[in-house]
Amino acid sequence: MNIHEYQAKELLAKYGVAVPTGYPALTVEEAVEGAKKLPGPLYVVKAQIHAGGRGKGKFKELGAEAKGGVRLAKSLDDVKSDAEEMLGNTLVTVQTGDAGKQVNRLYVTDGVDIAEEYYLSMLVDRATGRIALIVSTEGGMDIEEVAHSTPEKITTITIDPAEGFQPHHGRAVAFGLKLSGELNKQAQKLAKQLYEAFTALDCEMLEINPLVETKDSNLLVLDTKMSFDGNAMFRHPDVAELRDISEEDPAEVEASKYDLAYIKLDGNIGCMVNGAGLAMATMDIIKLNGAFPANFLDVGGGATTEKVTAAFKIILSDPAVEGILVNIFGGIMKCDIIADGIVQAAKDVNLSVPLVVRLEGTNVEKGKEILANSGLPIVPADDLGDAAKKIVGQVKEAA
Ligand code: ADP
Ligand code: MG
Repeated sequence: MNIHEYQAKELLAKYGVAVPTGYPALTVEEAVEGAKKLPGPLYVVKAQIHAGGRGKGKFKELGAEAKGGVRLAKSLDDVKSDAEEMLGNTLVTVQTGDAGKQVNRLYVTDGVDIAEEYYLSMLVDRATGRIALIVSTEGGMDIEEVAHSTPEKITTITIDPAEGFQPHHGRAVAFGLKLSGELNKQAQKLAKQLYEAFTALDCEMLEINPLVETKDSNLLVLDTKMSFDGNAMFRHPDVAELRDISEEDPAEVEASKYDLAYIKLDGNIGCMVNGAGLAMATMDIIKLNGAFPANFLDVGGGATTEKVTAAFKIILSDPAVEGILVNIFGGIMKCDIIADGIVQAAKDVNLSVPLVVRLEGTNVEKGKEILANSGLPIVPADDLGDAAKKIVGQVKEAA
């Protein structure tokens, strides 16, 4: 689960982290009111979307010369005109894809006199089973690019969660950032605070880009992205509340209502499968046959007619889908019940693309009979290989 920059800064402030003062705004009036509470004379108006690269982003509705999603404003009038231009318009950044994201919230914050920009991030590193803390002197830029062209400018420190944060980790961070004196001490303290926030809040990722050194020699978190382990959110109802559904893929939100595990992918073959392992195998075999899956979808062990119908609707709401492969193993659920659900759902949604169904398991003969007698153009398949070949063939034929 992701949250907005301003929300992440509010959370970090609770752990003692220094962040610039700022106020979120849903309207132009709120943006100006927020700015009035700041000392000025320099304000920064920032688009709040769940994507980075806002500064260099472009608004779809505005000309190529228009400013991006992070704007320095020198007066309250500028704050007003910037807010007017940004709210409701679509910001396209390197992270949003071509469709961009509509800006529904702004953050009006103190303009900071920047001396240096640094990079710091933390993530759960599966390879080492530790928390990786990554720092670089090259802040404010695309870190992938830094890693590619100047890897020597990146320092990675790993922390064993059983051991926890130790003073030497802090010193390694400050050293990696090449800081001395007072700033070196500030970096050590900041690293400890961030580690505490990261572990206490069950974060998956925390990125500060840039972390800045101000002209008056203080470290300040200027931009931050934070994401959390969705499975741990029951432990943090206050964080769970920060979820902004308007930032998420509508099909994925709809799927979560029915307890379906759905992830949209780029291909044209929709898949409906029970069990995550079988779903992965199905996607693999579609690829093996020269096509790409349009989604990952696990309907779970107890797929009811209602669930199957919802799954069909979600798959078909994706305009890229040109065919559907249903691959279900009847274990706890019996194949005839699943077949009933598929027939009902196919009728309900007025199925308009080829549908290949592979059923296996308890009552499979009964299930196949129901599909055959349904009067619907459902193509039965005997095994996984056969099913994938058939759906890929059908979609190619239709094209
Ligand atoms: P993004 O990463 O989405 O582009 P940032 O918050 O990192 O957004 O802003 C981009 C750049 O804008 C920063 O690298 C920094 O140079 C500048 N900037 C952002 N916030 C402020 C601020 N409060 N004061 C001064 N400059 C800022
Ligand atoms: Mg940034």
